[in-house]
Amino acid sequence: MKKLAVHGGTPVRSSMLPYATQSIDDSDVAIVSQVMRSSYLTQGPWVEKFEQAICDRVGANYAVAFSSGTAALHGAYQVAGLGPGDKMITSPITFVATSNAAFYTGASPDFADIDPNTYLLDPTCVKSGMSDNVKLIAPVDFTGQPAPIDQFKSILGEERPVILQDAAHSLGAIDQGRPVGKIADMTMFSFHPVKQVTTGEGGMIVTDNADYAKALVDFRSHGITRDSKRLIENHGPWYYEMQSLGYHYRMTDLQAALGCNQLLRLDEFLFRRRMIASTYQQAFANLPGIQIPTIREGAESAWHLYVIQWRVGAFRVSRKELFEAMRAENIGVHVHYIPVHHQPYYQKNGFAGKTYERAESYYLQAMTLPLFPAMTDQDVTDVIDAIHKVYNMHVI
Ligand SMILES: *Cc1c(COP(=O)(O)O)cnc(C)c1O
Repeated sequence: MKKLAVHGGTPVRSSMLPYATQSIDDSDVAIVSQVMRSSYLTQGPWVEKFEQAICDRVGANYAVAFSSGTAALHGAYQVAGLGPGDKMITSPITFVATSNAAFYTGASPDFADIDPNTYLLDPTCVKSGMSDNVKLIAPVDFTGQPAPIDQFKSILGEERPVILQDAAHSLGAIDQGRPVGKIADMTMFSFHPVKQVTTGEGGMIVTDNADYAKALVDFRSHGITRDSKRLIENHGPWYYEMQSLGYHYRMTDLQAALGCNQLLRLDEFLFRRRMIASTYQQAFANLPGIQIPTIREGAESAWHLYVIQWRVGAFRVSRKELFEAMRAENIGVHVHYIPVHHQPYYQKNGFAGKTYERAESYYLQAMTLPLFPAMTDQDVTDVIDAIHKVYNMHVI
């Protein structure tokens, strides 16, 4: 058995492999340079082009770009009517932004437990956590796998809350033949550098609802409208009205041009991600101490993250030591996510003592392995070799 790097052995590779990184090429650089010499730097023609390109890609009627996915969530929750006294429910296994945005509106976030196999928010757990003041549900397409939106719709019935799909991980994913973006009432995409395509920072809401789209456009720009049909007065060509309280959440044309160009390579990125994920699935399928991801029937994941679980009881050491051993081999493993209700701010705001059994168990065992389109076959082999090395050393 090879000596682990953490015990002074030679690491599987000599340089750290990150868990994720953006793919930027010369054409990305060229398009942003071109926009820098044009008359628009802030929101301009490229933002509209990017919104149209995302609509075309996912089959949605409207898209509204934002300065970040978090700003987009804030907008979506606001236009869905979330406010003081209201509640929204999401998964505890998400990035803090999903639930933080509820606080921004004055509402309270709440959580429901996950499915133990897919790690997605479980519709039956949401159903049992329902009350009259729940105005919005935000299932998360965790790791890139679409959340079961159809099941949420059927279990919650006719008088259901608004469903916002947090698709920060899942641009390009498919559910029962439909692209993510065409399924929920509103869908949020993020363009942070680790996500499927990047604009540096950026986000977007897509929807088929014209009223939501109109309200989102106002919300991202101070609540100001210039639409002559909606003005209460009209003093002349300079005139605009601030009719609601909005924010300054606009995307720049520099970002949108980068987004348009990145989108041209989305299929290439997805293809590579799916290939790497399937190599991992095969490589770890016969290791009984490791639980590999389960994909729902009829779902095609965009494979933003590849998460394994080191089964409690199968190893002589804890997940923390397994994590340190992987890092010492120069594999940039990560953990997604620390359950949101564990965060000190949430502990101080009503979640002290709250537990969600499956989310807690998931958190004790989870580890994210590197997965990004620019990984070479050798990188993938290094990850697999390191897993086997650490596994064989510590398995009972
Ligand atoms: C990245 C992310 C967000 C927030 O997106 P930003 O663009 O970083 O603001 C929200 N939810 C999830 C699940 C994410 O991964």
